[in-house]
Amino acid sequence: METVLAEDVLHRFLLEDAGVRGVIVRLGPAWREVAGRAEYPAPLLDLLGQTLAASALLTGNIKFEGALSVELKSQGALRLLFTECTDAGRLRGLARWNAEIPDTFALSDLPQAIMAITIGQAERGQRYQGLVDLSHPDLAGALENYFQQSEQLPARFVLAANGQHAVGLMLQKLPGEGGHDAKQDEDGWPRVEHLTATLGRDELLSAPPEELLYRLYHEETVRLFKPRPLAFGCSCSRERVEAMLRSLGREEIEATLESQQGKIEVTCEFCARTYNFDRVDAEHLLSGGTAASSTVQ
Ligand SMILES: [Zn+2]
Repeated sequence: METVLAEDVLHRFLLEDAGVRGVIVRLGPAWREVAGRAEYPAPLLDLLGQTLAASALLTGNIKFEGALSVELKSQGALRLLFTECTDAGRLRGLARWNAEIPDTFALSDLPQAIMAITIGQAERGQRYQGLVDLSHPDLAGALENYFQQSEQLPARFVLAANGQHAVGLMLQKLPGEGGHDAKQDEDGWPRVEHLTATLGRDELLSAPPEELLYRLYHEETVRLFKPRPLAFGCSCSRERVEAMLRSLGREEIEATLESQQGKIEVTCEFCARTYNFDRVDAEHLLSGGTAASSTVQ
């Protein structure tokens, strides 16, 4: 018997007759881990959850190694928003803001905002990066524009989040010719779009993925693939923290040691893991070695 995963799961599916492929992601514990890391104002929590769900959705139909990240920077109250999903389905994310976030805000209103989708392995320099046009007020619309521009095929996104769940649905029209499933169902895409438009935010947030797909597309031929588990996970490590410290330089490190009673404590903002360094560790890492000191959870 296979366990039915209702949360922290990614399902790929095919609406065969309509010529549409889709991905649905439902996050529970993994999202709450991210959401609970800071006192996020409600509209920012919503956007962070939507972006985390989207970064998982975007991994659904591609083969890649490393991580897929969505990063948003602006000069407004929201400074930075970052979410990531690795090839192993490990998710993390955070946002930083420096002023009051309005109750409703549109992506298109963020001053000097840039959103980038990056796929690949940073360490090996094998990366693909695309910029998302932010002229649309919400993330779903911005991603639809991105797909229309980059793949020349229509896509539809429905995203929602609250304090408990972050959920996303992505649909892509399959190319008309060449595919063996293409039955030239001209009405396929508009029909699926129409069915999807009936989906409300509350329904998206409350219903388990398989039930949701049944409710929406029970008149279609739905092929559901084996679900992929997702989980919260952070890629931070002592080695990475050492590299970061080394990049600060001796002067900065010595000044920090001086002001903090001979200790440097670095806390990962994604997972709250703490890395500690004393004078011996600092000397060791500055001289090029890696220290094997204690890591305190
Ligand atoms: Zn971490």
